[in-house]
Amino acid sequence: MASWVFCNGCFQPPQATSSFSLTSCGHMYCDVCLRRGKRDECLICKVACRTVLLSKHTDSDIQALFMGIDSLCRKYAKETSQISEFQEKHRRRLLAFYGEKISQLEESLRKSTLRVEQLQRVRSSQQTAFSTVKTAASTPSAKPSGSLLFQPRGSSASERAESMEVDLTPSSRRKAASPTALSTSA
Ligand SMILES: [Zn+2]
Ligand SMILES: [Zn+2]
Repeated sequence: MASWVFCNGCFQPPQATSSFSLTSCGHMYCDVCLRRGKRDECLICKVACRTVLLSKHTDSDIQALFMGIDSLCRKYAKETSQISEFQEKHRRRLLAFYGEKISQLEESLRKSTLRVEQLQRVRSSQQTAFSTVKTAASTPSAKPSGSLLFQPRGSSASERAESMEVDLTPSSRRKAASPTALSTSA
């Protein structure tokens, strides 16, 4: 028994020959002191109480009261580490799952960015092609203006410009259509 265990009646520590009892009010007595008092009544509290003989067969809850603080710490340190390891394992698993998810999303974002850049390049090349066509359409219009003299008086310059635009539209569409067709197959 630990050094703090003593009889609350005679203040003697437990002897090899004597047995100790614990009352429900929390007092301990040696056999001699227990017999001195009334049956089922505490000598100190003077109230009715239950008495339990302290032995290795005593209920574990009561035995736990006599456990050394150092072994109590070891017991809880072990329990604490087991519980924290269990929880940590699950946290790591969840973390790995989200890590994987994040890298998948990053990869998908990278691919989408590349796709957007690719489409922007196609669009700008289309715009370049379109402006080339527009320049080509406006440049020769200067030359026939000289031949306006040979035009019949009825046809105006605006009518002629309109007919040229109509002629050019299909060719500009053809140019615009080809890069789109390429990018869809890619
Ligand atoms: Zn005693
Ligand atoms: Zn008592």
